Amino acid sequence: MNKTIPTLFSKKEDCCACGACLNICPMNAINFQEDECGFLYPDIDENLCVGCGKCQTVCNFQNSVCSNSPEETYAAVTKHTEILEHSASGGIFASFAITMLSDNGVVFGAEFTPDFEIRHCAINNTDELHKLQGSKYAQSNTERTYSEVKKLLDSNIKVLYSGTPCQIDGLKGFLGKEYENLITVDIVCHGVPSNKMLKDYIAVLENRYGGKAKKFTFRDKGIGWGINGSVVINSKKYKLWQSASSYFYYFLKGWIYRENCYKCKYASEHRPADITIGDFWGIEKEHPELIKKDGWNAAKGISLIVVNTERGKHFLEKSKENIDLQLSDFKSAASHNPQLSQPSEIGNREVIIELYKKQGWIGLNKRFNEKIGFHKYSSQIKSMIPQTLKEFLKRYL
Ligand SMILES: Cc1cc2nc3c(=O)[nH]c(=O)nc-3n(C[C@H](O)[C@H](O)[C@H](O)COP(=O)(O)OP(=O)(O)OC[C@H]3O[C@@H](n4cnc5c(N)ncnc54)[C@H](O)[C@@H]3O)c2cc1C
Ligand code: SF4
Ligand code: SF4
Ligand code: SF4
Repeated sequence: MNKTIPTLFSKKEDCCACGACLNICPMNAINFQEDECGFLYPDIDENLCVGCGKCQTVCNFQNSVCSNSPEETYAAVTKHTEILEHSASGGIFASFAITMLSDNGVVFGAEFTPDFEIRHCAINNTDELHKLQGSKYAQSNTERTYSEVKKLLDSNIKVLYSGTPCQIDGLKGFLGKEYENLITVDIVCHGVPSNKMLKDYIAVLENRYGGKAKKFTFRDKGIGWGINGSVVINSKKYKLWQSASSYFYYFLKGWIYRENCYKCKYASEHRPADITIGDFWGIEKEHPELIKKDGWNAAKGISLIVVNTERGKHFLEKSKENIDLQLSDFKSAASHNPQLSQPSEIGNREVIIELYKKQGWIGLNKRFNEKIGFHKYSSQIKSMIPQTLKEFLKRYL
């Protein structure tokens, strides 16, 4: 019998690696393969494929249109000091997770393995919450988590699933219907480098400091609420200042993201999840009164919460015992967070990606050291000044 092997996407920019196709395939015929830069793309094993076409029907990335709009916008911070310390922003994700876990639910999010693979996994108790906390600024592999979610939902277990908007839309495409016991949380997202790029960068650090990295933190709160990280090698912690780290530099320039990120349709007020979370950048302008209040510390992180659905509203209501909230306004908050209105610009990506293909991260690191040179130290000093002191200096000088 003839079978038609489907084409899942014709251009790289038409696939975000959500994994919906891979999860739906009844023959397990689809697996992710890495391209030269380590970006994942689904690949069909033609021997296993029976040509049923299910994989094409679940691809939300090419088909869906998000119709949700912001219903409520808040500045927010967790009530738990320990959580705030280990979260990238205001600790909202972990606070939501506590609400779900205390309701006997299961929580999904992105974790680091000991080898710095980033992948989605499930937890069902607060002892494991630390694994999912903190931003990992490279693509997480959702693996078979959508299938796990469906099994739990069909058994009437409550689920909280968090990830990038394209991963949430992928999950929804895979599920194909609404579930009352599912809460989805998407993060404001400017784009993802490949996991390989991150691991190559960590290898450069291991070479520099002479040992195996034991811990990598993208946003170390010991350095304040910003994008400065740290790595632990041979039991010693090395700070990774935003302006002195080649990874942070290329990441924040937006030159090393997946191709589809530059046309991201989720970079708007229309979001696929029940609730959107991000950093409340510009808090000192929008709510100056807040940063003087107990528990609201601009050096430790303040989050943005956008509620997109009725279900999201109910869930936030339930989470109030873990979170302090201040009503805000979407347009003002989004004016400080460009990813809520437009995708990242492609800039110098072509040149940088070509260099990475030829010389790996060593080549990118060399280019960074040559081009950025002295300037990195002046911006390093700037990024060491606490936010409150910056505000003081701005006001009085
Ligand atoms: C790639 C990426 C880009 C981002 N870009 C922006 C931005 O431009 N503007 C902005 O305001 N915020 C951005 N964020 C979100 C921000 O960094 C925080 O994650 C967010 O504010 C939540 O902070 P928190 O303190 O509540 O929770 P945290 O504990 O810090 O965050 C944990 C949450 O992030 C999820 N997560 C972490 N890494 C990944 C990953 N690789 N893939 C999918 N999900 C992941 C976890 O599943 C969990 O839901 C980005 C996050 C990521 C991962
Ligand atoms: S379902 Fe997801 S992984 Fe599969 S082709 Fe579509 S975007 Fe790519
Ligand atoms: S057509 Fe069916 S069997 Fe073939 S890869 Fe797609 S889902 Fe799997
Ligand atoms: S920028 Fe858009 S397409 Fe890229 S990872 Fe984020 S949500 Fe997905």
